[in-house]
Amino acid sequence: METLTAQKQEMKIPVTRVSKSKISEIDFTKLQFGKITSDHMFISSFKEGHWQNPEILPYGDISLAPTALCFHYGQTIFEGMKAFRMQDGNISIFRMEKHFERINKSLDRMCMAMLDEELFYNSIKQLVALDQQWTPTQEGSALYIRPFMIATEERFGVKESDEYLFIVITGPVSPLFNKPIKIKVETDYVRAAKGGTGYAKCGGNYGAAFYPTKIARQQGYNAVLWTDSIYNKFIEESGTMNMLFIINNTVVTPPLSDSILEGITRDSVLRIARDIGLGVEERDISVEEVVESIENGKMTEAFVAGTAAVLNPVELISAYGKDHLLPTLHDNALVYKLKKKIENIRTGVEKDIYNWNTVITQL
Ligand SMILES: *Cc1c(COP(=O)(O)O)cnc(C)c1O
Repeated sequence: METLTAQKQEMKIPVTRVSKSKISEIDFTKLQFGKITSDHMFISSFKEGHWQNPEILPYGDISLAPTALCFHYGQTIFEGMKAFRMQDGNISIFRMEKHFERINKSLDRMCMAMLDEELFYNSIKQLVALDQQWTPTQEGSALYIRPFMIATEERFGVKESDEYLFIVITGPVSPLFNKPIKIKVETDYVRAAKGGTGYAKCGGNYGAAFYPTKIARQQGYNAVLWTDSIYNKFIEESGTMNMLFIINNTVVTPPLSDSILEGITRDSVLRIARDIGLGVEERDISVEEVVESIENGKMTEAFVAGTAAVLNPVELISAYGKDHLLPTLHDNALVYKLKKKIENIRTGVEKDIYNWNTVITQL
């Protein structure tokens, strides 16, 4: 396991503390997803070719010029990660290295300033350590960590920015869903095309997905299941989550491509599935195959995987205007088994054999 002092180079970040914590106003038994922010935030600016003035400050507004490029040409990217309260009281941050790799892939695609390990690890670890009482103890809850970057150069001509802000905020959350969801296979609109930005966590991908998602919600579904941009025939992923199926007792999921976001939850589930002896197939899966295998009973489970949702069962898939109901799940369903394994590793109930946790020692 990595520890706060052992890993990477230490960096001293100046801290301005809040005069009074707002934590006593928060009901940790009634958390929603994405409403509450912790006391502090991290901020650093990129100017003249390097990162400068790293600081931890009270969470609060930032001031930007109306010409800041992020408002005009979409250079914004983010990450979403979680920290968990372990059974010994310490805090584990899940798979920081994977998130570091991915944020730089997104930055590279969007021509934004890259982050170095020192800045990424230290900003997040020191912020989580400072606001550690904000990591919930309730089962299933977590401290959500949102690192993001925006273009700040003041200029309204179209160009890639030479200046950026990197900010990290956190907030306690419960899982995104609390019951099985209904999803609609989308065959009219696309989220991402070959050669596009689908693999990057850039703001524009989400703005473009709202409209079809709004229609699906109005029709009674929780999310859309995107299909490929050329034939609208092969399953890609769902909203902010990757899609997995259990067909003939094998875990089946679409292979990664430049139009699918490389989910870290997806990667973790596949790793665990292989190691507990389940078959895993990363292959093209058509909408037709999904429908057929629900109807002939070969598909016993379908679920989404993402940091916000963790693993969440899908109870119904709508395709070409027709609803297809999945079997009711029993307590021994694979989705629950896989989810429990991940949760056990994160909370220290099971040994972290993959070195996924960065542990912050409780003060
Ligand atoms: C973040 C995200 C996911 C899930 O990735 P995780 O690393 O598991 O959180 C899947 N799809 C999209 C489009 C996403 O933005």
